[in-house]
Amino acid sequence: MTANSVLIAGAGIAGLTAALALARRGIGVTLIEQAEKLGEAGAGIQLSPNATRVLVALGLGERLKATIVEPFAIRVRAGRSGREIATMRLDTAMPDRYGAPYWVIHRADLQKALIEAIADEPQIALMLGATVDGFAIDPAGVRARVSFQTLGSPAKRVDYGAAALIGADGLWSRLRALLGDGAAPRFAGRIAFRAIVPAAPLSAQDRAPVVNLWIGAGGHLVHYPVRAGAAVNIVAVCGDQWQSPAWSTGAGREEVLARFPAAAWAAAARELLATPDHWRKWALYDREQSAPWGRGPVTLLGDAAHPMLPFLAQGAAMAIEDAAVLARELARSPADYAAALRHYERERWPRTARVQREARRNDVRYHLRQPAAFIRDAMLRAAGGPRLLARYDWIYRWRP
Ligand SMILES: Cc1cc2nc3c(=O)[nH]c(=O)nc-3n(C[C@H](O)[C@H](O)[C@H](O)COP(=O)(O)OP(=O)(O)OC[C@H]3O[C@@H](n4cnc5c(N)ncnc54)[C@H](O)[C@@H]3O)c2cc1C
Repeated sequence: MTANSVLIAGAGIAGLTAALALARRGIGVTLIEQAEKLGEAGAGIQLSPNATRVLVALGLGERLKATIVEPFAIRVRAGRSGREIATMRLDTAMPDRYGAPYWVIHRADLQKALIEAIADEPQIALMLGATVDGFAIDPAGVRARVSFQTLGSPAKRVDYGAAALIGADGLWSRLRALLGDGAAPRFAGRIAFRAIVPAAPLSAQDRAPVVNLWIGAGGHLVHYPVRAGAAVNIVAVCGDQWQSPAWSTGAGREEVLARFPAAAWAAAARELLATPDHWRKWALYDREQSAPWGRGPVTLLGDAAHPMLPFLAQGAAMAIEDAAVLARELARSPADYAAALRHYERERWPRTARVQREARRNDVRYHLRQPAAFIRDAMLRAAGGPRLLARYDWIYRWRP
């Protein structure tokens, strides 16, 4: 390990992007992931221009080209009637207004592109089946305790020294607890059902390169094509008391349709919901950020630092932004990583906190019941697509 090398705990989108961003700045990285294999977890994700700008700058544009879809619009529809409420055009807005594309992609395709780019980077060592479960700050930086689990034998523990340790270990972050904030994430009283289905049997409208958002009483539905248009990602969110910290659990068609009854949801929405044979369900959690995120040469990144409700489609985007800022700050201050991490935290905290708050507001806005829903829809119609899109300028115009 070189003098200025960095240890990252967790190889999700946050850890993988941070490793790549650091290596591109000439900083050596050891990326430690508890899973023995980086599986195809998750489903579709939207990547807005604030995130794609970073990915393109990291040289991932070519690798991702074959798998992304560039939607030409975000269409908002009323859950009950199916009527269009507003359409935000992305095809013209993205290059002119934001200077970077809007992509929708399968998380596994993004993960694969990141892993391939990392494999080409001699400065990055990826260790799988290894868990960071402790650390001690010392004069040379930090010593992380890493456990290797082998089936049937006691865990082997090894200490790794580095100049900095980054906890990119997700919503249930162990590093965040070790840094002194052991408060658990708060269940939001909502679950998300997710499925990916082949596009070919669907209607032309459901296959079109559009992000569709249906808003209804107590629930919403999002769907868009992924895998270069070969598949469609469906997310259905509703109120529920089912809770699980696991990434996801299986669910059946009847369970989903029961949450989106014919009395409250248009036939076209229910037809789409009836398409998948299998769903996965996620309990949704929220959590205030720790203040501060880190201490000395240790900090947090991605969901570990700022878990958020997915109602603004910004969780992974914020992790990608974090990665760019982290790499810039560490490259700027090679002699004082602790100071660099405080700069990084000061820059990221207010923005990610604002995005968290806005996602919570969308939780309320999306799920209104009558008569409030009627007023909301009238206001959205009156505002129209361009003005609605302009409300996201502060998110999409971000540059590292
Ligand atoms: C329904 C839903 C829809 C979403 N849609 C979008 C979207 O459209 N756009 C968007 O930008 N975001 C979206 N998100 C959010 C996005 O998925 C997350 O914000 C993002 O995946 C977080 O990445 P992460 O790397 O921080 O955490 P994770 O993906 O949780 O990765 C953490 C990694 O750390 C590993 N790990 C944990 N503990 C340790 C340890 N002690 N040592 C070593 N390794 C460890 C884990 O195994 C895991 O691989 C959505 C989320 C949900 C639930």
